[in-house]
Amino acid sequence: MKTLTIIGGGAAALMLAAEIDTTKYKVTICEKKKSFGRKFLVAGEGGLNLTFNSSIEELINQYSPSEFMDSCLREFSNEDLMKWLNNIKIPTFIGSSSRVFPEIGIKPIEVLNKIVEHISAKGIEFKFSTEWKGWNEKGDLCFENDEVINSDITVFALGGASWKVTGSDGNWKDLFEEREIKVNPFRAANCAFEVDWDKNFISTHEGKPLKNIALEYENHFANGELVISEFGLEGNAIYALSEKIQDKLLLEESATIYLDLKPTLSIGQIKSKYKNSKKSKTTDILNKDLKLDRTAIGILKQFSSKESFSNPDLLCEIIKAVPIILKSADEIDKAISTLGGIDLNEVDQNFQLKKHPNTFVIGEMLDWYAPTGGYLLQGSFSMGFALANHLNKT
Ligand SMILES: Cc1cc2nc3c(=O)[nH]c(=O)nc-3n(C[C@H](O)[C@H](O)[C@H](O)COP(=O)(O)OP(=O)(O)OC[C@H]3O[C@@H](n4cnc5c(N)ncnc54)[C@H](O)[C@@H]3O)c2cc1C
Repeated sequence: MKTLTIIGGGAAALMLAAEIDTTKYKVTICEKKKSFGRKFLVAGEGGLNLTFNSSIEELINQYSPSEFMDSCLREFSNEDLMKWLNNIKIPTFIGSSSRVFPEIGIKPIEVLNKIVEHISAKGIEFKFSTEWKGWNEKGDLCFENDEVINSDITVFALGGASWKVTGSDGNWKDLFEEREIKVNPFRAANCAFEVDWDKNFISTHEGKPLKNIALEYENHFANGELVISEFGLEGNAIYALSEKIQDKLLLEESATIYLDLKPTLSIGQIKSKYKNSKKSKTTDILNKDLKLDRTAIGILKQFSSKESFSNPDLLCEIIKAVPIILKSADEIDKAISTLGGIDLNEVDQNFQLKKHPNTFVIGEMLDWYAPTGGYLLQGSFSMGFALANHLNKT
C-alpha cells in the first residue's frame, strides 16, 4: 500500500482526506496547530458561508483564472458540496443573497467536527503540533520535532498568508523557492482599502454601512455593501474588486473606484425625483426623496465640489458615480484571503508539481483568486475532492 502524507489540515486537506481511498493509501495528516481547521472556524465567525448557489457557469466565472478552476469545480460543484455536507448530517440553507450556510443553529465547530469524525472513521492518522520544515537532501519530509517522513505521495495544503494566528502564515514560501518552484509574492485580497477621509466625516461615520450600493472599477462591477472604517472602505462590494484594484496599485499610487449610491435607479429617474421634490434644501431632497442616509450624503459632500453639490444635474450624476480614490490595501494579515502563492504554471491539471512528481499542492497556497461569497471554501473543497478522485484512479 502506498503512503500518502497530507500536510496542512484546512478545508482542502480535509476534503482530500475524506474522499481518498484508504484501501489504496495509508494516509497521515500533519498539522502544525493542535487541531484542524483554525481558519475554517475563523471564517465561521461572521457566518460560515460554505458556497454560493448559482449555475455552474456563473460559479466558475467568479474565479480567476477561471480556466484553472473549471475542471475541479465541475467535478465537485456547489450542488455537490451541499449534497456532500447533507450526507454527513450537515444540512445547509440558501440565504436570500444566494450564499449557502449550515442550517440555522449549526455552529461552525459542529461542521468541522462532523467532517473530522467522517475522516477519523477511515483510519487516517492525525499528527498535530507537527510543523513541516522542509526537505532533507534525500527529499524526505522534515518536521519540527526532528521527525522525518519518507512518503510515496505528498500533498501540501498549507493555505495562504493572512490571519497567521490560524497557522496559515505563508512561511512555506522560501522552502518552495529553494526547490526552484516559482512562488508569486503574497498580496492582500478580499481586504479593506485606504481612503483619505475628511476628519469630520470619519469621526461621525466610522463603522457605518452603505447598503445596497454598487461599485465600478475599470468596467468591473460589484453590488453589495460597504462599511466605512477609519482606514478606508471594507465590505463585500470592494472585496469583489480587490484583485483588480491590487493589480492597479502595483503600477500606480492610487486607484479610483466609482460608487453608485442608487443602483436601482437610472440617472433619469434620480433627476426626475430631484426635480419633482417639494423640498428646497439639497440635503432634505437627498434624504427624503432619494432616501440617502446621512453617511451617503456625507460621502457625496466629501467627494463633490461645492459647485457640483449645489447643481442638481451634476449632483444626480455624482450619486451614480461618486469617485473615491483608494491609496493602498490593508495589511495582509487582516485580509480574508491572499493573492500570490505557487504559480499555476508550476502544477499540472491534477495539481502535481511539474518539477517534483508525486508532490501535489492544493487550496489557497496556489495563486488563484475568488471573492467572498463562499467561493474560497468551495474552491478549496473542490481541489481536495478532485485530487482524491485522481489519486484513487492511479
Ligand atoms: C476572517 C476570514 C473569513 C473567511 N470567511 C470565509 C467564508 O465565509 N467563506 C469562504 O468560502 N471562505 C472564507 N474565508 C477563506 C477560507 O477560510 C480559506 O480560503 C480556506 O480556509 C483555505 O483553505 P486551505 O485548506 O487552502 O487552507 P487553510 O484553511 O488556511 O489551512 C491550511 C492549514 O495548513 C496548516 N499549516 C500551514 N503551514 C504548515 C506547516 N508548515 N506544517 C503543517 N501545517 C501547516 C495551517 O495551520 C492550516 O491549518 C475566510 C477567511 C478569513 C481569514
